[in-house]
Amino acid sequence: MSSEIRYEEARKILNNTFSCLNASKIVSANEAFGCVAAEDITSPLNLPATANAAVDGYCVSAAFLQANPDYEFEIVGTAKAGHPYNKPLGDGEVLWIFTGAIMPEGADCVMMQEYCDVSGAMVTFPNVMNSGKNCRPAGENLALGEVIILKGERLLAPHIAQLAAAGISQVKVMSPLRVGIISTGDELCDGLEGAYPKEGQIYDSNRPLLFQLIAQEGHIVVDGGIVKDDRDSLAKAYASLAKECDMVISSGGASQGQEDHAKNALSNIGAVELFWRVAMKPGRPVGAAHIGNVPIFFLPGNPVAVYVCTKLFVLPTLAKLHHSVFTTLHTMSLATGFAIEKKPNERAEFIRVKLALTNEGDTVMLPHGRKGAGVLSSLTGADGLAELPYELGSAPEGTKLPFIKL
Ligand code: AMP
Ligand code: MG
Repeated sequence: MSSEIRYEEARKILNNTFSCLNASKIVSANEAFGCVAAEDITSPLNLPATANAAVDGYCVSAAFLQANPDYEFEIVGTAKAGHPYNKPLGDGEVLWIFTGAIMPEGADCVMMQEYCDVSGAMVTFPNVMNSGKNCRPAGENLALGEVIILKGERLLAPHIAQLAAAGISQVKVMSPLRVGIISTGDELCDGLEGAYPKEGQIYDSNRPLLFQLIAQEGHIVVDGGIVKDDRDSLAKAYASLAKECDMVISSGGASQGQEDHAKNALSNIGAVELFWRVAMKPGRPVGAAHIGNVPIFFLPGNPVAVYVCTKLFVLPTLAKLHHSVFTTLHTMSLATGFAIEKKPNERAEFIRVKLALTNEGDTVMLPHGRKGAGVLSSLTGADGLAELPYELGSAPEGTKLPFIKL
């Protein structure tokens, strides 16, 4: 029997065991939403291609204006967005120019029209300007050859817009992975299939939860259904999914009770155990094994444990297989708005919290109000998880803790 390890150690083992599958495909930019870029994407153009006006007004040579501040300039034409003025300006000449119009040769700044004194075809400026005033330089948004999307970046709405702005219609993205999901437990009833629970049965909620967590990352779910609390049935289910999928996840039957068969079923099919039992709450009975580069997670049955273990172990491993980055867990730490009661050096705890603003304008973490590894409703409405580190004992309100966004 493996001994209980720290969750950080479990993550290290996973990161060190699995490697990226490196499968990519070309998709249209519109289909790329939510996908991960498979290569750096560079801009094939300068955007804007030329300097253009940032306001409606009169464009002029800054140097000429500085030398002749009171000069009465002649308005020799207009330039609008999409309708350039194609001749160079001479000394003492200006254009009436509109936002987005190309700056003509001979002008390098624009005075907003509200500030100009216009009389017929002549205009005077209220003050001098520096070169570049109210102009957008060529390449301000994108420069030719500039990397606009990095390999490994997830393509969201701003990225798709960036691709469109650069005139890029196709991108290479990482191919989605296939993830097999099973629930195990004699008490489970498949509400998804319209089944009705008999006495002592409960609806399976872990499979729907895992379906969504996996699909949300853009991957393909392979439904392994509900498997009875029986070692052989479970072994069969694992073996068949491991052949067909890039990752397998089960929930339930992960502990060491009479009716917990995940660990032994995996050993029966020759899967190599990576760890089993982690010093964390919820999720202690979690285990992971592998057949070659196919990870097999056997998660506990309690729904909140499933969620937390997915966040800590499953999704980071999936990201490693998919685009070679084992996801980091924390991006910030926040103060608690409550006192903590905990035994030090026993387990790391992950509690569901909501964020709130104090009167001083600081963000604090407040307890969700519901807790318990089986209490699914402690996840709905939670903003994230506060980690109470392994070493931490009881601590006062205001203690800063790592925050994990949900
Ligand atoms: P187990 O890890 O199999 O001992 O299950 C722990 C608890 O989680 C038990 O109360 C189970 O009934 C419950 N449970 C197990 N699997 C599921 C599931 N798929 N959906 C909802 N609850 C589950
Ligand atoms: Mg069970």
